Amino acid sequence: MNNESDLVGKILRDTDGREYHITAVLSKGGQGIVFRTAEDFLIKINTSADKEKYGERYRWLKMKGATLPKETRIAFPIAILEPPYIGYVMKEAKGHVSLNDYIEKPDEIEDLWDWYFNATGGLSKRLQIGYLLAKSLRHLHINGYAYVDLSPSNIFVSREKNSLAIIDSDNITSGAYKPLINGTNFYMAPEIGNNISVASTVTDTYSYAVLLFKMLTTCHPFIGDDAEEASPEWVQDSVDRGKLDYIGDPDSTENKNTNFENTKIFLTDELLELFRRTFVDGKLESSKRPTLMEFMKACAHARNRVIQCDHKGCDAEYYYTGESCICPLCDSKPEKVYLLTSRNMVRTKGKILIPLDGSPDMRPLDVYSDEIGTMAVTKDMKYINRSFFDESIPFELDGSLAAVGRTKDGKLAVINLVNNKIMINDSKMSNARQVMPYKKGVTGPVVIDEKPGNYFLFLEKNIDVTTESEFIDIKQIEKFYGTTEISKFILIRQEG
Ligand SMILES: [Zn+2]
Repeated sequence: MNNESDLVGKILRDTDGREYHITAVLSKGGQGIVFRTAEDFLIKINTSADKEKYGERYRWLKMKGATLPKETRIAFPIAILEPPYIGYVMKEAKGHVSLNDYIEKPDEIEDLWDWYFNATGGLSKRLQIGYLLAKSLRHLHINGYAYVDLSPSNIFVSREKNSLAIIDSDNITSGAYKPLINGTNFYMAPEIGNNISVASTVTDTYSYAVLLFKMLTTCHPFIGDDAEEASPEWVQDSVDRGKLDYIGDPDSTENKNTNFENTKIFLTDELLELFRRTFVDGKLESSKRPTLMEFMKACAHARNRVIQCDHKGCDAEYYYTGESCICPLCDSKPEKVYLLTSRNMVRTKGKILIPLDGSPDMRPLDVYSDEIGTMAVTKDMKYINRSFFDESIPFELDGSLAAVGRTKDGKLAVINLVNNKIMINDSKMSNARQVMPYKKGVTGPVVIDEKPGNYFLFLEKNIDVTTESEFIDIKQIEKFYGTTEISKFILIRQEG
């Protein structure tokens, strides 16, 4: 095949005789070309020197892909192309765009912030993608596979929806079945670049961290200002082999990036620490790298902290760090922020509150507050997930329980997204109101009055968030204190 676009307009068949009308080239890579078809499937045709070896791999991937859960979000081969082509058919994720759109600013948009915030959904969209990608890869890893050549060209995301798809499964490895390539330049772990290790789940996690870092800060973690003067070959080789210092290394004065000094405001302390562990401690020692689960949690925590500037004409997103924080774009203070904090409480009939871990020498306390998560809300809508109440919720079960947002006149509205009981109390524990489960056109949100300040949002005893981590033996406590219940609640405070 000399000119791949020659195939546009042609009909290809799979080994079961189904026909596909090629309509356009979607992407081209080192190993092949991906085409769109009139049948809404994608077709990958291998054009590499190793294409005979890939023929065998594609049959293996088709078989394995059928056994993996759909949560991996990977488009595995669903049919194999008929010779002379070496390639396969996969599902197309409709309405998804390449992750490159979130990583590289196109030349036609001049202003970096205009692109970051207005054209690509800003900080919360990027954190959402970071969370979803870690989750997809984790699903693949816990099933015993590594993805191997992670790069933005292989990932497609929905602009509007909370959705992501990974399209190129060619190099997935089970360890026993070796991939034909070991990674993508600028995203591969140094042990791959130095040829001293094979691709694995920890090299995937390294590539993921590079990708997340680039997406959030617009900088590559190892490309500093000096790279502009150097030859592209030298830069690529030095990055891939881990020869350069991390641009965010607090203990190094080498390899600094001026741009990063402006964009590191898009990293929380938790994310900064995970990147330091990956690119400093774990650069050459893979066992020191954080896990995908840690990145997932950090993305979720960061997203909870994002607020949208409520100053007129400015919608920039940034992290709420307290009453004195200001918008990095327009320098104004947020007018009104609602701060939500999730807590655990053990309550007995006698209204005595005791700590969850206090069973050996139980001591009644006046108030016991066991802070778990924090969320800040200005204009934007936020979702309260199960893990907001309990970090040990298995990630497969981490659905949304409620949504909070602002009404047109600036009040806080709470929407119940499940069929469980959610109550709102004022600070005097009077005036309890039930938040009815949301039904389109039937139930509206419950609006919280602006003053006085403190409100509590209660979930009915343990609803949906009970896990095995709650080792507390309620029967033992009840012997001493009578009827006992563990409550999950959120304290809603208005700041600013
Ligand atoms: Zn602003």
